[in-house]
Amino acid sequence: MFEDTYRIPAGERRTIGPFLGKTRVAYFSMEIALHPDMHTYSGGLGVLAGDTARSAGDLELPMVFVTLVSSQGYLRQTLDDSGWQDSTPDPWSPEQFASPLRAKIALPINGREVWIQPWLHVLRSPIGHDLPVILLDTDLPENDPRDREITHHLYGGGSEYRLRQEIVLGIGGLRLLSALGFSRINTYHMNEGHAALLALDLLRRYPRPPDQIRDLDLKYDVGPVRDMCIFTTHTPIEAGHDAFSYDLVEELLPNYIEPDQLHLLCGQDKLNMTRLALTLSGFVNGVAQRHARTTREMFPGYRIRAITNGVHLPTWAHPAFARLYNEHYPSWGLEPEALTQADQLPGTLIWDAHAEAREDLIRMVAEHCGVELDPTRPIIGYARRMTSYKRPELLFTDLERLRAINRRYPFQVVLAGKAHHRDDEGKRHIQNIYGHMRELADEIPVAFIPNYEAGVASKLVPGVDVWLNTPVPPMEASGTSGMKAALNGVLNLSVLDGWWIEACLDGVNGWAIGEDSGNGAARACAEDLYAKLEQAVLPLFHTDRDAWIRMMKQAICKIAPVFNSQRMMQRYASEAYMPLTRT
Ligand SMILES: *Cc1c(COP(=O)(O)O)cnc(C)c1O
Repeated sequence: MFEDTYRIPAGERRTIGPFLGKTRVAYFSMEIALHPDMHTYSGGLGVLAGDTARSAGDLELPMVFVTLVSSQGYLRQTLDDSGWQDSTPDPWSPEQFASPLRAKIALPINGREVWIQPWLHVLRSPIGHDLPVILLDTDLPENDPRDREITHHLYGGGSEYRLRQEIVLGIGGLRLLSALGFSRINTYHMNEGHAALLALDLLRRYPRPPDQIRDLDLKYDVGPVRDMCIFTTHTPIEAGHDAFSYDLVEELLPNYIEPDQLHLLCGQDKLNMTRLALTLSGFVNGVAQRHARTTREMFPGYRIRAITNGVHLPTWAHPAFARLYNEHYPSWGLEPEALTQADQLPGTLIWDAHAEAREDLIRMVAEHCGVELDPTRPIIGYARRMTSYKRPELLFTDLERLRAINRRYPFQVVLAGKAHHRDDEGKRHIQNIYGHMRELADEIPVAFIPNYEAGVASKLVPGVDVWLNTPVPPMEASGTSGMKAALNGVLNLSVLDGWWIEACLDGVNGWAIGEDSGNGAARACAEDLYAKLEQAVLPLFHTDRDAWIRMMKQAICKIAPVFNSQRMMQRYASEAYMPLTRT
């Protein structure tokens, strides 16, 4: 479970010494989900980084993770009676989870010296392997008050604040690793473009001899940098990529690098962090096959590979399923391939474990929302960041139709999700959902759990019967919550996008909404969703429980052994981290 995985015993001293000589790979991420009370993440990207770290520990990979301390967290969501989101800071206490390290470096930003001091959090895999996580902090008395805030708010502020954060993460993180004494790191993995300035800082170490520079040529040698840098992109929409005006870059990093050099590396208009990372990385990948294809179309001329995301199975199995798997496949946590045999488990054991997960969720919904769910009705779950491209309201396109379906095959719905504090459109989706909820209240129980985060996810996802996903293709880069669902025998009902294209056997281990090539027109997609619910999903639940359980088993045995972070990290290790295979 997300709550209690991978902590070292309280009181045990954490020191950086043992890691300095052996670490080879540094993984940089703006966010990482390590523990429910460490608010250093906002959503999928951070959960992925956390699962990456846990699997790196399980595999004893010689890695260090670098992120911001984000002491004020991302945001805590409260909802008023109308469903309007109020976002407040979500602080946490680094001293409870990490030790301050004595090393300190200063970085000039905007003409001021910004001091950065790291915290060390150590993650311990059950096999006993420790993995260091460095949390960068600028909230130090020696800093100007404006600079003390840089590591407060994850994804807070505007583009200037963001660029300051990315300077601290990329350049500060890189220099701090050297200052700490990490002497053998030869690989830098950028999880999304936020840390791309690290590659630029590396580049400055490789000036070309002047006689080798021709007009319009780069004054630096990209070769050695590309040998060291790996870039994983996660965003299939242009607007999702950070881009900073060159004026702002010049203001915050005056005389850092010649402007003409930046233009050569990342385009004339803006400093696009994705383009910078693409240009300076020898290994670039998307996070699912489809996403890699989309990225190739967005950025022609780069070799973009695909390594499909995965989830850390022991973290995301409900305790009832973890117990079941421990009993029958003792090695499943470290050898997920053991779960290929899960279709042989007696159906009653699967259903009993599921019933326990369901009860936990029903209790949580009663506590958090005051809604009494009906134990006999199937629960449809939907939770993710509330943003337009994910179409959180698609299920509610036609309320009359929903009522009609519900009269034939009763069901209920549980939703959750935060909107970014500046995304009023996202907040309006939540408010609209509250409206639909009220309209349906006398017939269909619908609950919205406030403040979706990984702790909520670890109860919500395993506790539902059907996990719904309705993004506009190809906008969902991968998605990982559906993998957590399948591990717990929850059946995915999803648009064919991201990872689901690779996993879905329609009617066998879950269901597809729409065609693979579908352009996602909302009305047609909703129509398809209703048809699937009415003709396949709900009748099966109500009339043929054995067939339903057979599908649960297929979801577990076909999906969990593949869509896990163990497999994902084995691929990064062999294909990206081993320089011999890089071109
Ligand atoms: C797993 C998880 C996600 C990612 O799921 P998606 O399928 O990408 O939406 C996001 N937020 C939380 C809290 C999660 O646990």
